Amino acid sequence: MTAPAPDATLIDGKAFAAALVDRVAAAAARLERDHGTRPGLAVIIVGEDPASQIYVRNKGETTARAGMRSETHRLAGTTTEAELLALVGTLNADPGIHGILVQLPLPAQIDSAAVLGAIDPDKDVDGFHVVNAGRLAVGLPGLVPCTPLGATMLLKATLGDLSGLHAVIVGRSNIVGKPMAQLLLAENCTVTVAHSRSRDLPALCRSADILVAAVGRPEMIRGDWIKPGAAVIDVGINRVPSADPVRAAAGKTRVVGDVAFTEAATVAGAITPVPGGVGPMTIACLLANTYVAACRAAGVEPHALDA
Ligand code: NAP
Repeated sequence: MTAPAPDATLIDGKAFAAALVDRVAAAAARLERDHGTRPGLAVIIVGEDPASQIYVRNKGETTARAGMRSETHRLAGTTTEAELLALVGTLNADPGIHGILVQLPLPAQIDSAAVLGAIDPDKDVDGFHVVNAGRLAVGLPGLVPCTPLGATMLLKATLGDLSGLHAVIVGRSNIVGKPMAQLLLAENCTVTVAHSRSRDLPALCRSADILVAAVGRPEMIRGDWIKPGAAVIDVGINRVPSADPVRAAAGKTRVVGDVAFTEAATVAGAITPVPGGVGPMTIACLLANTYVAACRAAGVEPHALDA
């Protein structure tokens, strides 16, 4: 009989994100002291979506905690595309604003692609502009989407050099899967990108030294899909009924990832929990991107923010 595998190392994204925010705050303070530039982030929210309101409040609070200028523009759900584009234009021209984030989703009357495309690429701290996607693809400095950037930082902090490792990314969205593939390619991983049409996904996953799940399907990736000792990064955020039937009957929910955590943790070498893994890194990387954008606007080389 084989002994059960030891539990995986827990990759504590919450602690790592807090330390990253501290490093960004220190770097931003130096930028202001030595060059007179205080990084500024403007967040635009249109409408009353409750989840978006919470995200935007967290972003504002964390930005202020890092000593940066933070402004939030709350627009009515009836705002027209022309009105939103006018605000983006004003913020593009504001020298005190180095990062602009438009909270998604936008109301139906507004073309999200047109709005995201109107943001100055050098202020596009979400990294969603096609110019930044192109820069990432060809290896030019740009602004990188926050969630895959944070996931890559966690991997490097956990594993060190990623060269030669086989990374399997499940999901090919423009905001997570594809930029994650570019980032891991830049770290010299051998990268496989899987999606809903991939054949024999369990076997593909079992070939991964690094497995990144960005699917949006609760606990889809099972323990026996994981290569023993692999590093597992679970990007998924899925709200499901509470595990307690009484609480579930009362409509209570909990958040789970795309990986069946309890099973996976007995096989993997390291794994991110949900919540508390990749999620907290997203806001921290938003601040890091705002700092980098402010440095570039000031003509200053940004300090390295890795641990
Ligand atoms: P998305 O745009 O819906 O993309 C999902 C991807 O998963 C698609 O490429 C899809 O393939 C693939 N997929 C769906 N079902 C599959 C299946 N059965 N087998 C294999 N692949 C499958 O989602 P996203 O925006 O990338 O987000 C993914 C997850 O990450 C979500 O849970 C989201 O909430 C979470 N997320 C978290 C953060 C954060 O931590 N802050 C940020 C962003 C997203 P096709 O392309 O073939 O359809």
